[in-house]
Amino acid sequence: MAYSSIFYLFSHFFVQLLTNGGNERAIPSFGPSQIGVHQSVEDGQLRRIYLSFDDGPNLGTSNCIRICSNQKVAATFFEVGFHQARNKKGQRLYQKILKNDSLFAICNHSFSHAYTKYLTYYHHPQEAFADFMQAQTLLKPKNNVLRLPGNNAWNTKEVKRASGLVRPLVQQLDSANFNIIGWDMEWRYNKKGSPIKSPEAIVLLVDSLFRLNLTVTKNHLVILMHDHMFRTAKDSINLNKMIALLKQNPRYRFEKLTHYPGLKN
Ligand SMILES: [Zn+2]
Repeated sequence: MAYSSIFYLFSHFFVQLLTNGGNERAIPSFGPSQIGVHQSVEDGQLRRIYLSFDDGPNLGTSNCIRICSNQKVAATFFEVGFHQARNKKGQRLYQKILKNDSLFAICNHSFSHAYTKYLTYYHHPQEAFADFMQAQTLLKPKNNVLRLPGNNAWNTKEVKRASGLVRPLVQQLDSANFNIIGWDMEWRYNKKGSPIKSPEAIVLLVDSLFRLNLTVTKNHLVILMHDHMFRTAKDSINLNKMIALLKQNPRYRFEKLTHYPGLKN
């Protein structure tokens, strides 16, 4: 086994251990990249954080938009076409993200989210590809970045990580010039949909992954969260706190995933 594979397995295991799991779960329906005041840090010392919110628009999306706007941090929303299309509220939230182009990116997270039947979805790559194209038509993202539902696959110019299950779909999306981006760590949620760990614990994990160089790309870290986790006032305070704590580190900068290194144009 190649060294890189061993390293990946080790780091993947470590991250799984720290984050208490890996695969995201779907909830059924229900400026510049960084703005802010920072101490002066040389470019080479900077560490880039990519906040990503999946499966919206839904009940938590407006809190995510509000908090990131107020904190002036960049974020990426991986939207589900079906959630955007199902009612006027979904469309309004989508427009709200779209309007704040300097901070936010909307990316394709499929039309159906596989209706949470992931095995069936990935066993039919042609239909899955068509599902992504349907979302592309609907969401009209201004980029070629997407994320697979329920699967942490990566496919850019520089990173190729896909299990046998999703590889046929990944190859089709690759041929159509899409980038696929997964995540380095997930802020997971409990059965009620609330974040499991405290903001402080998440920040410690971010610090550790950077320090131990356990991210997919050195000095770049992608955090997966789900909009619905922050639908209540109590839980959204935790998102606000986590971001505020991260901002205290002068080496950290927030970026949209459209600025991740090594993307195909
Ligand atoms: Zn998802």
